[in-house]
Amino acid sequence: MLIVQKYGGSSVADAAKIERVAGIIADTYHAGNEVVVVLSAQGDTTDDLIGKAREINPNPSKREMDVLLTVGEQISVALMAMQLEKMRLPVVSLTGWQIEMNTDSTYGAARIKSISTERIRRELDKNRIVLVAGFQGINKYGDVTTLGRGGSDTTAVAIAAVLGADKCQIYTDVDGIYTADPRKVPGAKKLSAITYDEMLELASLGSQVLHNRSVELAKRYHVDLEVLSSYERKPGTKVREVVKDVERMIISGVAKDADIARITVAGVPDRPGVAFRVFSAMSRAKINVDIILQSAGSDGTSDISFTVAEDDADAAKAALEAAAEAVGCDHIAVDRDVAKVSVVGAGMMNSSGMAVRMFEALANCHINIQMISSSEIKLSAVIAQSDADRAVQAVHEKYFGEG
Ligand code: ASP
Ligand code: MG
Repeated sequence: MLIVQKYGGSSVADAAKIERVAGIIADTYHAGNEVVVVLSAQGDTTDDLIGKAREINPNPSKREMDVLLTVGEQISVALMAMQLEKMRLPVVSLTGWQIEMNTDSTYGAARIKSISTERIRRELDKNRIVLVAGFQGINKYGDVTTLGRGGSDTTAVAIAAVLGADKCQIYTDVDGIYTADPRKVPGAKKLSAITYDEMLELASLGSQVLHNRSVELAKRYHVDLEVLSSYERKPGTKVREVVKDVERMIISGVAKDADIARITVAGVPDRPGVAFRVFSAMSRAKINVDIILQSAGSDGTSDISFTVAEDDADAAKAALEAAAEAVGCDHIAVDRDVAKVSVVGAGMMNSSGMAVRMFEALANCHINIQMISSSEIKLSAVIAQSDADRAVQAVHEKYFGEG
C-alpha cells in the first residue's frame, strides 16, 4: 500500500517525540508499505517565529513572513530524517519546492495549484521513506508561500490525492474526532467515522482538528482519511463519503465558534434593493457573511443582522459606513460578544424532533437565542459568548446523555 502520514507539531515537539513517531513510521515501512510523511513545525515553533518577526517589525510583508515560517517545517523533516537514518532506514527529506508544490501567490494563505509526483515517485522507487515539509509551497515567481495556519494537513491530503495513495493518516495529539471538545465536555464521545460534509461543518465551526481545506480536498478527490493519535496505537476516526449504519449516530457533534461578530444594520427602509446594497458592500470588501436575519420593525423600517468572522468585524463596519448613505440605514452596530453553537449530523433535518432538542436544552438553561440557521446537516444558534460553554455542555447532554 501507499500510505501518506502527517504528524502535527505536538507529535514532533522534541527528540523523544520524534523518536516515538519514527517508530510508527518504521513499522509502517517494515510492513511493506510505501510511506510518505508530511510534518508540521515542532511544538510552538510557528508561533515563536511570528513573535520574533513582531519584535523587529510589527508589519512585515507577507512574502517575508512566509520565508520565515517555512523554516519550521524544514527543521522537522531534517530532524526526522536524522532519526530514521540513525535507525538505519533509507530516508530523504524534501521541501515544498523540491516536490514542486505549486501554489498561487497569496502569501500566508496560498492555494495549491499543482504538485509534481515525479520526485516523490522517484524516491519511493528507491525504497526510501519520503519526508515532506508541510504547509509550504512555491509560486510562479519562484517565491516561497505558505498555505495558512494548520496547512500541513492540506499538504498531506493533496499529496495523497496526486499520488493516488491508499490512505492518508493524520496523526495528532487527540485520538480522533469527538462529538464535542473533550477537554471541555466530559461526556464527549469519539466517533469511529464521520462524513466529509459533517467534518467540514465541524471544522468550520471551530472544532480545530483538521484544516478545512484538507477536508475539502479529501472530499473532492475521495481521499481515504483517518485522524488518529501518535501516542496510542489504536484506530482513530475515519472521514469518508458515506458512513455505514452501524457506525452512524444521528448527531455527529456539537461545536462552538466564538470567533464571530454580529453586525446589525439598523433602521433600513423596507424596500427592494436594500439587502443587495448591504451584501454588495460585504462582497466588495471580500468579507464572508454567515447567518443572516432580517426583522421588520413597526415603523416601516427593518434591521438586517448578520455574522462575520470576528477578524473581519472592523472591515465590515468600515465598508458599511462607507455605503451607509446608499443603504439608507439609521446606524450600524457591532457585537463581538457572541458565539455560534451548532449541532451537526447528516440527515438531522429528516429526523423530526432532532432540532427541538437543541432549543429545549437552551431553554432549560435560560439561554437567549439571537439568531438561528439550519441546513440539511446542521442547526446553529447565535448566543451571547458568555453562555457558549454552558450551551455546548447542555446541548451535548441533551443529544448524548451525561457521558
Ligand atoms: N506550522 C504551521 C502552523 O502552525 C502549519 C501546521 O502546523 O499545519 O500553523
Ligand atoms: Mg493542525
